[in-house]
Amino acid sequence: MRALVGDRAVVLGGGMAGLVAARVLADAYARVLIVDRDRLIGASGPRRGVPHGRHAHALLARGQQILDELFPGLKSDLDAAGVPAGDLADDLRWYFNGRRLRQAPTGLLSVSATRPVLEDHVRARVAALPNVTVADRCDILALTTTPGRDRVTGVRVRRNDEDGAEEVIEADLVVDATGRGSRTPAWLEELGYRRPEEDRVKVGLAYTTRHFRLRSDPYDGDLSINPVASPANPRGAFFPKLPGGVSQLSLTGMLGDHAPAELEGFLAFARSLPIPEIYEAIRDAEPLDEGVTFRFPASVRHRYERLTRFPEGLLVLGDGVCSFNPVYGQGMTVAAMEAMTLREHLASGRPPLARRYFRDISRIIDVAWDIAVGGDLNFPGVEGPRTLKVRLGNAYMSRLHAAAANDGGVTAAFMRVAGLVDPPGALMRPGMVWRVLRNAGRTPAGPEVPEVPEVRKYGAVPAGSGD
Ligand SMILES: Cc1cc2nc3c(=O)[nH]c(=O)nc-3n(C[C@H](O)[C@H](O)[C@H](O)COP(=O)(O)OP(=O)(O)OC[C@H]3O[C@@H](n4cnc5c(N)ncnc54)[C@H](O)[C@@H]3O)c2cc1C
Repeated sequence: MRALVGDRAVVLGGGMAGLVAARVLADAYARVLIVDRDRLIGASGPRRGVPHGRHAHALLARGQQILDELFPGLKSDLDAAGVPAGDLADDLRWYFNGRRLRQAPTGLLSVSATRPVLEDHVRARVAALPNVTVADRCDILALTTTPGRDRVTGVRVRRNDEDGAEEVIEADLVVDATGRGSRTPAWLEELGYRRPEEDRVKVGLAYTTRHFRLRSDPYDGDLSINPVASPANPRGAFFPKLPGGVSQLSLTGMLGDHAPAELEGFLAFARSLPIPEIYEAIRDAEPLDEGVTFRFPASVRHRYERLTRFPEGLLVLGDGVCSFNPVYGQGMTVAAMEAMTLREHLASGRPPLARRYFRDISRIIDVAWDIAVGGDLNFPGVEGPRTLKVRLGNAYMSRLHAAAANDGGVTAAFMRVAGLVDPPGALMRPGMVWRVLRNAGRTPAGPEVPEVPEVRKYGAVPAGSGD
């Protein structure tokens, strides 16, 4: 058995980032405690602390590989729970610019679990580790530090029960995984450190989601039908098939053009998608719930790697470092990749050094951020610097998507990059460029764009944000 790095690590937040962090910390600390404000023990399904969990979530291929490594047998558990799974490019139907990508095997797995189902399974695995405990229904209030404020020594919490008692939990390492609302930037300032710089790209996005029982089968064996928003039609959808004959439909709208939650408006929005089959499947389907909307004004990246001073005993992981435009499906996978970086640092047998950790995870974030922000800047209403790299990248991607409608090999290569398995450079190899250029010209234009109200310009992006 490996030497332990410390006695106790405390993870703030028991979402997907907190769970993968706890899993790797459990190999290096004698005790790991996860603190969350929601009831987690014995709970299942959507919860208050994760309102975005009600909307379509897909785990990218790299995230799936990491979960398989950290939790052997997880896929069998999900199979046993009836969660459908298949090949990322062969069993999912993708549309870009209204054109269907040719399906082809990649060997990469896509598990069609909703966010609460995936989280429940991962949480069960983490909670079963002998040295992990969960302190749920606890509000995280503040960090505690040494008198010189150079080291974080724990966290002050308040129990969400009748007496609302406050207590201090001591820790050798505190990992903040409280998500987009992370208070580490404010805590740093209170402790006399600089706040990290922030990059922000306004996308004015919203997801609106409803569940239906369909009367017809539009899937034809596929797991999901996903028309991706494009500048020509900035409305998109994720339409996975769930267990029990239920379909989840998340409609996405950018730049303030949001799908209404009430049924009539929801159906009208679905009708204006770049492809007809989703509207045709739901127009006479049985609606199973009221619609819910989640607004996502901007992608936000905290530049922790640029700080020159940072207290010992504290790290941040997940959306608290970078919260990506969710249509690219990157958040859970990037959190898992960050956890693997943390694991590598812990393997040295010494407590992780914040500056090295943030430097290393920034390389992971760079790749995902460039993919997402580059894609967003293809929309004229998204403000930000359109460098030559961004413009060339978007011009090439539009040809690549056209080529992928003809050539399943191009679809597979694209999915490996979008799935964060291969680096973006894989799409620029000479053989691939040749396939793209050869096939793009053979693809007819996409269908006529249904009438969409003119989108609003959403606002300026502060200098320094974006690429
Ligand atoms: C609409 C939408 C769709 C998305 N789709 C995808 C997708 O398809 N694929 C993908 O990979 N990612 C997707 N994401 C992103 C993904 O949800 C996150 O990146 C991922 O869950 C990691 O988040 P996290 O664990 O860092 O934070 P969260 O999921 O926000 O979890 C934070 C946890 O901290 C707890 N907490 C917060 N503050 C406190 C406090 N003060 N006291 C106690 N507890 C606290 C909360 O209860 C919660 O459990 C989507 C996001 C949105 C908004």
